[in-house]
Amino acid sequence: MPRVVRFKALLDQLKPSPKMPAVFLGHGNPMYAITDNQFAQNWRLLGEKLPTPQAILCVSAHWETHGTTLVQVSEQPKTIHDFGGFPQALFDVQYPAIGAPDTARAVAAILQDHHGHETMEWGLDHGAWSVLRHLFPNADVPVFQLSIDMSLGLSGQYALSMQLRELRARGVLILGSGNVVHNLRRIRAEGGEHDWAIEFDQFVADKLESGDHAALANIQPEDPLFAAAHPTFEHFSPALYVAAVADKKDQLAFFNDHMDMGSLSMRSFVYF
Ligand code: ZN
Repeated sequence: MPRVVRFKALLDQLKPSPKMPAVFLGHGNPMYAITDNQFAQNWRLLGEKLPTPQAILCVSAHWETHGTTLVQVSEQPKTIHDFGGFPQALFDVQYPAIGAPDTARAVAAILQDHHGHETMEWGLDHGAWSVLRHLFPNADVPVFQLSIDMSLGLSGQYALSMQLRELRARGVLILGSGNVVHNLRRIRAEGGEHDWAIEFDQFVADKLESGDHAALANIQPEDPLFAAAHPTFEHFSPALYVAAVADKKDQLAFFNDHMDMGSLSMRSFVYF
């Protein structure tokens, strides 16, 4: 099985390292990539304290696939401006980090029983680069993205991501980028946070804190509170990918735990 051999070779190549933290960032408004704001300030502070990874595996809410998990294996992933209606300054942003093809191919091999495949398509979407440019402003750490297979549902996504846990001991930083509450239809500049937004955000925080990940992975899309917080669930999934790589020895820290525009939770968390 050549793919397995390649993975073993890679494990030898990736030096065992102190276990990498796993990070989930609530990314919110794309403009936070280029504006000074309290959320980005905390992303930068975190970046200054993180150990330098050998590679970053990023799961962004903005790369959805159906029936397969794609792993981006480019030497030089391109910066994708996957939005419309924003100022030119946002379209001008480039995040020139190199890719991590060997690690990415190994991840595809790990996930082959979960319909994992390599791809040269994609690159870095704004869910990835809008936070990475604050976390690692010098773009000096190799980075690659993993798509979210929406057909798996939350429980399947959680099970898939558990396969990636070992990578943390091999210098790979697993970074999820989404939002714990994300309802663009209900954003409001005035009037404060919606009650259901606060309630779901706190529910997630409580379950993460108690380690009850099953309560999160088994949420049904039609659950009324979840449906209010996530009319579609792609922004919630990255939080589950990160929770799935936590182990019992980890500590958990929350930050940016504020609601933005009434219905976007910026809650971020780190396992370390
Ligand atoms: Zn987003």
